[in-house]
Amino acid sequence: MKNCLLILFTSFVISCNGKTPPEPIPKKPKNIIFLIGDGMGLAQIYSGMVTKGDALNIERFKCIGFHKTYSFNNIITDSAAGATAFSTGEKTYNGAIAVGPDSIPIETILETAEKKGLSTGLVATSSITHATPACFIAHVKSRALDEDIASDFLKTDIDVFIGGGSSFFEKRTDGKNLLNDLKAKGYEVDTTKNEIISSKAKKLVGLYAATQPDSATGVRGDILHKATQKCIDILSENQQGFFMMAEGSQIDWGGHANKQTYIIQEMLDFDKAIGKALDFAEKDGNTLVIVTADHETGGFAITGGSIKDKKVEGKFISTYHTGVMIPVFAYGPGAENFTGIYQNTDIYKKMMEELGLKK
Ligand code: MG
Ligand code: ZN
Repeated sequence: MKNCLLILFTSFVISCNGKTPPEPIPKKPKNIIFLIGDGMGLAQIYSGMVTKGDALNIERFKCIGFHKTYSFNNIITDSAAGATAFSTGEKTYNGAIAVGPDSIPIETILETAEKKGLSTGLVATSSITHATPACFIAHVKSRALDEDIASDFLKTDIDVFIGGGSSFFEKRTDGKNLLNDLKAKGYEVDTTKNEIISSKAKKLVGLYAATQPDSATGVRGDILHKATQKCIDILSENQQGFFMMAEGSQIDWGGHANKQTYIIQEMLDFDKAIGKALDFAEKDGNTLVIVTADHETGGFAITGGSIKDKKVEGKFISTYHTGVMIPVFAYGPGAENFTGIYQNTDIYKKMMEELGLKK
């Protein structure tokens, strides 16, 4: 029995890493790059694979698990409760931004990392105040409170954030201009894609749309993978390590709109960011990359198409989220701990443990 377990354990480690670990004590990562494809279920991923007809970066992962997405009060989560589970380890009500079911703020992994001297960053293809990125840095009762969420960015020492939503910082009902406050705190504030990508700043705010950015086929173009790379470049200067989250925000919006072309384009765009993260992690050797989604959107199913013609025919059963389990892909030191089936809140716990962080 002992031998059997040992063999199982050994083959498990080998299957995840592709080789036997050189030392008996598992290595811990210094950095975590956490990538969220909002609304990205298996059909969204696979329709991207079929359409590209060539391996996606997401196929480079060997350690794969599943998480249960349900929220505190609903079998169907929203992105706010979903991201709060990842950022704080607590299930909460739909709409909550890093507050518990009692509306009391809970410290996030990004805040803990920042306090312990790691560099931190957020990247999104929605406004940076949108539910998913907001849950890593803000604490408000409702995801609709974009201006309050924007104010919370000033309460941390996050090093980089890039997304849409400049109007929530500078055209506010309280008349404040938070972009000036950010500049006073030492950030370079860039509002165009080119400025952001070519920035040499150590502390960077990149707000490339007034509210929500357009799709990957519009003006937004390829900013996601370039902003992800920029964020990695800046944060990796810190020898103590870093934590960052980058989101392919609009896979979800394609699902809500029941538009499979939109889903596929956003999936392929997100996959390029995954590629940047993996390329860095492969070279660095001290970086754990995690890719997952908060939930599936649309009840999207592949009902036809052709592998040869790289075509997918899909159907939707909903214009909202569904409650299925969601895959988790992990690469790097600690990746084997992300295999199996567990709660969305366990992703927070595993990431904290891997970074050696305690609240
Ligand atoms: Mg989102
Ligand atoms: Zn959604």
